[in-house]
Amino acid sequence: MELLLPRRCAGCGERGRVLCPACAGELRTPPERVFTRVDPHVPVFALGPYAGAHRGVVLAMKERGDQTVRGHVGAVVAAGVRHLQARGEVPERLVLVPAPTRARSARLRGGDPVTDVCRATGLPVCATLQLRAGTPDQGMLDAAGRRRNLVGRVEMGRRPTAPVVLVDDVVTTGSTMAASVERLLAAGCVVAGAVAIAAA
Ligand SMILES: [Zn+2]
Repeated sequence: MELLLPRRCAGCGERGRVLCPACAGELRTPPERVFTRVDPHVPVFALGPYAGAHRGVVLAMKERGDQTVRGHVGAVVAAGVRHLQARGEVPERLVLVPAPTRARSARLRGGDPVTDVCRATGLPVCATLQLRAGTPDQGMLDAAGRRRNLVGRVEMGRRPTAPVVLVDDVVTTGSTMAASVERLLAAGCVVAGAVAIAAA
């Protein structure tokens, strides 16, 4: 496809590379703690606001089959996690657990982009959470509605054995993270924190 279509920056849409120097610079900013309406039980960090380059790469990585962007976002997430490790916010030994997705939406997008991003970090990954079939889309719901929507809907496969860092693309109310953390804690996992690419 790259031979047929000119590449555009995933962050700002400018013609040229996968990520232009300005957007790459914006994505290098250190993760910051964010506080959500729903208590996720663990510290949540965002790599940036849901705007500019961060918003651009989140939208680009959701496009079907855009593996190149997912690889770049993986490097950005890896740098963010290393930053948190250096600050002592998350442990050295950890496993990334992608936030659960609805199987159908993952299929429509050509595989779950957050799982692909986690795999591209080079860190250990345990893709063990998923939303039970039939879970309605969270998009139109408020914080309380999202919370109710997710109760008992997060399913877990294999139990991660290292401390978990949950990873999601965008954190909004914190409902998905809270439901995921509750599921992991109920299974006896240690959850060190959560990282989102962007905070809305
Ligand atoms: Zn750009």
